[in-house]
Amino acid sequence: MSAVPPRRADLSALDGYHSPQVAATVRLNANESPFPPPESWRDDLAGAVERIEFNRYPDRSAAALRSALGELHGVGADEVFCANGSNEVLQSLLLAYGGPGRRALLFEPTYTLHAHICGLTGTEVVAGRRDAGFRVEESEALRLLAETAPTVTFLCSPNNPTGRAEPAGLVRSVLEHAPGLVVVDEAYGQFAPWSALSLREGPGAAGPGSGLVVVRTFSKTWSMAASRLGYLVADREVVGACEAATLPYHLSALSQAAGVLALRYTAEMEARVALIAEERGRVAAGLAALPVESWPSDANFILFRPLSKPADGVWRALLERSVLVRNCASWAGLPGCLRVTVGTPSENNRFLEALEESLR
Ligand code: PMP
Repeated sequence: MSAVPPRRADLSALDGYHSPQVAATVRLNANESPFPPPESWRDDLAGAVERIEFNRYPDRSAAALRSALGELHGVGADEVFCANGSNEVLQSLLLAYGGPGRRALLFEPTYTLHAHICGLTGTEVVAGRRDAGFRVEESEALRLLAETAPTVTFLCSPNNPTGRAEPAGLVRSVLEHAPGLVVVDEAYGQFAPWSALSLREGPGAAGPGSGLVVVRTFSKTWSMAASRLGYLVADREVVGACEAATLPYHLSALSQAAGVLALRYTAEMEARVALIAEERGRVAAGLAALPVESWPSDANFILFRPLSKPADGVWRALLERSVLVRNCASWAGLPGCLRVTVGTPSENNRFLEALEESLR
């Protein structure tokens, strides 16, 4: 008789990555954009939906979206791979380049899904540590590269949840010494002072044949988390490998249309980024006036540590005031830390007021 068998043992050992989706009026826990995309983008999308032939499979190669992204970044469409969120991009990379017997190097604390997807794909994780200021130490990175020969090295720039972009010098040095791919996760790239995409040009460029992979998403700066759309820019061999590792027709016609149309609103996206960066300064100043330790950020979130009360209690007190932030207190290397996403000006005011009360 059939029965539900035990699941894969290594799967059971994996912790889920769950930001609790509890009800709160001020939602500052998932680094989403607080602003909706432009109204006219919605109208464009409604028009595009009218024209979709829903009885047919979508364009398997996502040609229009990839060429629009190629144009945006000055690369060929064949150097772009798109998937359902950058999480699926990362999964495709690890299906293609990770797996049993292969290693991926990352530097904790960092985006927890990097290690999680390694687990899902049977890729061994080599976890380097960041220094006390959450920086990757170059000597430590080069030592681990030489000792462990990873097929994939992750850098997250800006790093979630600590906030800083990786310095260009470090990324260059890792690229020079890594024996495999160097995946620079730029989910928050537009908030940062520089992009690893710039390393594809100029003298000593990480151009064709290089293992540089830059991963981006529509979920943050493009205000499209609900669309589930992400992409990478890399050598065409890497794009081909990701395609080979992905199920056919994985990207729906709706997602493809949403992405193509969004790219017509670059100026609006940049205006949202500028406003959030300004608010980030205001939230940072607000935090500096409270009994918390906080870290500088090049992204749309700020990591902080309450000093007068335990973090778990502060997280709950904020939620009682209908303000939801991310509780990172139990994450490796982040004892007592919380992470707040920069919201609208009024959400940020609500957060700072609620935090001041919660710390009393
Ligand atoms: N990379 C980083 C660093 C992130 O913080 C996130 C979202 N939390 C992602 C990737 C995944 O984003 P998405 O799958 O929505 O594109």
